[in-house]
Amino acid sequence: MEKAQGFQVILVEDAGKRKAYAKITSEVLRYSTDFFHRKGFVQLMPVILSPITDPLGPDPGSSVIKTGEIEYLGQRLSLTQSMILHKQLAVKEGVEKLFIISPNVRLEHPKRGKSGKHLFEFSQLDFEIAHAKKEDVFALMDEFVRGVVEHTRVACREEFAALGRELLEFDGAFPIYTTHELKEKFGEDWETVASLAHKSPFWAVCHKREFYDKEDPEEEGHYLNYDLVYPEGFGEALSGAEREHEYSRIVGRIGKDMLDAGRYEAYLELAKEGLVPSAGGGFGIERLVRYLSGATHVGDVQMFRRVPGEAVVV
Ligand code: ASP
Ligand code: MG
Repeated sequence: MEKAQGFQVILVEDAGKRKAYAKITSEVLRYSTDFFHRKGFVQLMPVILSPITDPLGPDPGSSVIKTGEIEYLGQRLSLTQSMILHKQLAVKEGVEKLFIISPNVRLEHPKRGKSGKHLFEFSQLDFEIAHAKKEDVFALMDEFVRGVVEHTRVACREEFAALGRELLEFDGAFPIYTTHELKEKFGEDWETVASLAHKSPFWAVCHKREFYDKEDPEEEGHYLNYDLVYPEGFGEALSGAEREHEYSRIVGRIGKDMLDAGRYEAYLELAKEGLVPSAGGGFGIERLVRYLSGATHVGDVQMFRRVPGEAVVV
């Protein structure tokens, strides 16, 4: 088979580290699952193939070059880019608090390989809460991040020592800024600069993003969504929002984004029956492990790297 041009083959520089990253990942999964169960969430199984998936745009932060697709028995099925639309449908089924650890395939442009934080295949912990507001998600995630830091600090003491990683402590609720404030202070490309300037994670609210993130009914062009950003330059941790749940609003937003409404047919049919208002978010497991362990590249913490622009070895 012909090899794609311009690909590099990279394995993690010190193979001994893979064992440490595996242990930290395992403890992150254990803590996350326990945490969401303790908070009354129901864990759902992921889907990998569906006629509908997250369009991942228009979002200035997205560089996905195409959606992975297969044809099966005459149906065109997309590889999951995120479980967002299925989360809304599961909430409609009456599962009021849910989470899913799901594989996401996002075929990012190879230039993203150098960002340190992009993968074309990763696992996302996606959660959704019926009738919740953004403040509920802030409180939940503030507690989660603090908890996972404390848990791994103890459970992975040896691994952190071997990696030379000292995690900073932080107290109090994470600060909340609007993206407008962040742009003013740190420039258009505020994420990495602002992340480097912080010692604790912080929230960035109000991004123009996908149709399912709710537009502020009081202020057109403003959005009830948020990103959580790790400190020390590690950048984006989570994206989420209060959701558009009214059929007419969803159709309007899909139209504004110039998406093909035909691709969302089944979702729209169900939305017509009425979706339940909800809020939620999703965070990449590998990005969390990278932040905790201080790894240079998020691909380093994967046992089998999936970095845009690098050939897949195994
Ligand atoms: N999971 C995210 C959400 O809940 C969407 C994303 O993956 O960016 O909004
Ligand atoms: Mg995001």
